[in-house]
Amino acid sequence: MREQDASPVIEGTLLSWFETGLEGIVWAVHEDGKAGYSGLNPLRDGDHLQILEADGTLIWEGTIDLDREVNRRPYPFNPGVSGHAVRGCWVKGLQRGVDLGLWFHWFQDEKCARLRKLARPMSFDDLPLLPLDSSLDLADRHYYGLTCRGCQRTVRMGIRRAVRLAGGQRTEDWLKRLRCVACGHRGAGIQLLADVRNHETIEREGLLSVTQEK
Ligand SMILES: [Zn+2]
Repeated sequence: MREQDASPVIEGTLLSWFETGLEGIVWAVHEDGKAGYSGLNPLRDGDHLQILEADGTLIWEGTIDLDREVNRRPYPFNPGVSGHAVRGCWVKGLQRGVDLGLWFHWFQDEKCARLRKLARPMSFDDLPLLPLDSSLDLADRHYYGLTCRGCQRTVRMGIRRAVRLAGGQRTEDWLKRLRCVACGHRGAGIQLLADVRNHETIEREGLLSVTQEK
């Protein structure tokens, strides 16, 4: 018997994900059989990861626990962003208790991986992991929850809509300055929420309408 909310195991390969806008390597698992962003799973604290040789031999197993403070320095080309400088690379967090050289090697070698994601809402700390670009499939699976600090009214907003309305400002900065239409208070608490339904359910029921807002 499987629990209703148990996350499925994702089979794939380790990926050192880097692209313009991330300003650092994000540790991820790319799911087998999926193309591009739809197969991308950035590792987050609390996720359970197994790293395996191609023959199935277990190399490492544990709960993701990323140290985001070690070697932390401002990013030279964007002082508002900080990261970890390691071996000439910028990375987003280092796994506690694992030799850094080994960790790098496993990801560069694209070892086999089995990932069980912790099913829970994303937090504000996860925002830098998401490139806020309207063309990305990640926007199909995540949305903002905004809570008015005046009247506690909550609304949801799709990432694509937020990016469009922010008009080039940093999306989260713009969201935090929104004025509540009910009480007039300016200032919202924002949370990034994830659609944690499994693939089968999403295929059957479709994407959440909030994520499809333009
Ligand atoms: Zn309000």
